[in-house]
Amino acid sequence: MPDEDLVIHWFRKDLRLADNPALSNAVLHGSVLPIYILDNKNADAYVPGGASRWWLYRSLEALGESLEGRLRLYVGEPLEVLQELCARHPIKAVYWNRLYEPWAIARDTVIKTSLQEDEIDVSTSNGSLLWEPRDVRKEDGTPYKVFTPFYRKGCLKLAPPREPLRKPALERFIHDDSNRSLEIEDLGLLPAKSWPQKLESCWKAGETEAKKRFEAFLIEGLPQYKEGRNFPTKPAVSRLSPYMQIGALSPNQLWYGARKLGDDKNIDHFCSELGWREFAYNQLYHNPDLPVKNLQSKFDAFPWVLSRNYLAAWQKGQTGIPFVDAGMRELWQTGFMHNRVRMVTGSFLVKNLQVHWHHGERWFWDTLIDADLASNSASWQWLAGCGADAAPYFRIFNPVLQGKNFDPDGAYIREYVPELAELPNRYLFCPWEASNVILQSAGVTLGVSYPNPIIGLKDSRDRALEAFQSLKQPG
Ligand code: FAD
Repeated sequence: MPDEDLVIHWFRKDLRLADNPALSNAVLHGSVLPIYILDNKNADAYVPGGASRWWLYRSLEALGESLEGRLRLYVGEPLEVLQELCARHPIKAVYWNRLYEPWAIARDTVIKTSLQEDEIDVSTSNGSLLWEPRDVRKEDGTPYKVFTPFYRKGCLKLAPPREPLRKPALERFIHDDSNRSLEIEDLGLLPAKSWPQKLESCWKAGETEAKKRFEAFLIEGLPQYKEGRNFPTKPAVSRLSPYMQIGALSPNQLWYGARKLGDDKNIDHFCSELGWREFAYNQLYHNPDLPVKNLQSKFDAFPWVLSRNYLAAWQKGQTGIPFVDAGMRELWQTGFMHNRVRMVTGSFLVKNLQVHWHHGERWFWDTLIDADLASNSASWQWLAGCGADAAPYFRIFNPVLQGKNFDPDGAYIREYVPELAELPNRYLFCPWEASNVILQSAGVTLGVSYPNPIIGLKDSRDRALEAFQSLKQPG
């Protein structure tokens, strides 16, 4: 054991060495024992879904490599794990970056008090948000409900975000072979299914990989971000949300990485999307029920329809609406879906199919590798019309027009719905309008090689609007 004080850095959703404020603080105060504790209990319904568990496995593996074998892994009740470590070693203090999920806030409050009662110092930092949710409030002290004032009058009027910090030297971390740490395989993060094989070919985890992606985005994507970000096949978005979700990158690194390139509409727009992430966290912080309860309570009376067949067709990408199916298959095959397509597939579920947004939220939670409680819940509420600053209910995305506008050459549909690849563009977005001759020459038999639409777009739109009107009827 080293002569100087021994401290713990507890990694959670901050799986990186650079710009990690709690970690940088820890190394200033002693030799650091770096640990990760898989907590399957406290998160309850919000334990990571299948795709996120795979991503966590790979991200921990990458962090372990960066720490050259010093990261120690545990499963269980974090307080017990920490108390056991503190009993075995002369630990002076425990450091962590704050989480904002309601279950994590409750758990961490108890842990902090218990450790302090045992005379162990606890120091927490903000390692995942540009501004603390408790600091962004209206003049009257209440939280913002609309994005633009939240961002412009709230966030941008506060002190600028903290500048990114350097990586601490590896010598500051200790190798501790004296405790019962687990092997990564023992965490039980990998599903038995062959599903992750597809994810393996799409994503490489870790801080180094995240930085490479970000640097490539700054050159190729950022200069066309504002307009290009709506087109799923354009390399105009960063695809960094999986790294943000696990904390392989911090928002501060993205903010300053983009800002240092100057000041133009693309950079501003990119930073404002980081602002949407802050807004989602702000909503969750001030509304701990956000994942389950409509922010606008009038939606509690909405006549949702639960059709298992609709839900299954949507999940499998078999709705017969090509742009929707392409999105749902992208999700299943890659653990990711482009933002524009998330909006279109989500709107189709909650509006055309009238399936409760909870079912969409749950499916995304399980299949997205960027699944994030704040962004996912806030986005689903936004789509369903019941959230803060929500899309007006009558704004129902038309998946045919959305496809034509944002996938004009059909490359996205052809990639994920290859059975339609030979159709001419005119019918690719709406194969039901093609004549039998055209379908035959493209090798398509509707109802056999590709489904007929499970619902009529116009009729279902009208029904959705009627259902929404019913909310306005008194009594
Ligand atoms: P970029 O456009 O490159 O943006 C950079 C970063 O800003 C992103 O990595 C992300 O951290 C943040 N960001 C961008 N747009 C948003 C947004 N609208 N809301 C919040 N943060 C944003 N995002 C998640 O991170 N996790 C989720 O679970 C999630 N679920 C969603 C569910 C629905 C129904 C919808 C409509 C959106 C959801 N989003 C979620 C938001 C958004 O789709 C993704 O953050 C974005 O597609 C990530 O792609 P990117 O990294 O290329 O983003």
